[in-house]
Amino acid sequence: MSVDLNTLKTPAPTITALTQPFWDAAAQGRLKIQHCEDCGKAVFYPRPMCPHCWSKRLVWKEASGRGQLKSFSLVHKPGHPGWLPVAPYVVGLVELAEGPTMLSFILPGMRSPGVGDALLLAPTAIGGRVLPAFKPVETATEEKPK
Ligand SMILES: [Zn+2]
Repeated sequence: MSVDLNTLKTPAPTITALTQPFWDAAAQGRLKIQHCEDCGKAVFYPRPMCPHCWSKRLVWKEASGRGQLKSFSLVHKPGHPGWLPVAPYVVGLVELAEGPTMLSFILPGMRSPGVGDALLLAPTAIGGRVLPAFKPVETATEEKPK
């Protein structure tokens, strides 16, 4: 991927009062997700009510930034033309260490992505804003030149 992701003309996220804390954290290169004060479970995407116990006592907490690739797609034909300069690129379902799954841009690693890959949060400037992308955790054996 030789194109600077920050130069892409991609659509901006739709920010609501509910999702504002997520996007504010993202802009600072951080990942915040909701946690339920009643059942203790982590919640993502942002909601007004816990999907596990229906409590409305949700608070925002910093996520570890660790996750695992649950599934992914190599996108050749983006849903928006703004992404065309970087196609093909990888979009994946990241199972966060806290439990919830989030859809995210997966930065290229040393090898092709695979289900089960360990991932780390990699805040990335895309289309003029910092978004919570993820990158593969490279193991020592994979870092050797081939
Ligand atoms: Zn709950």
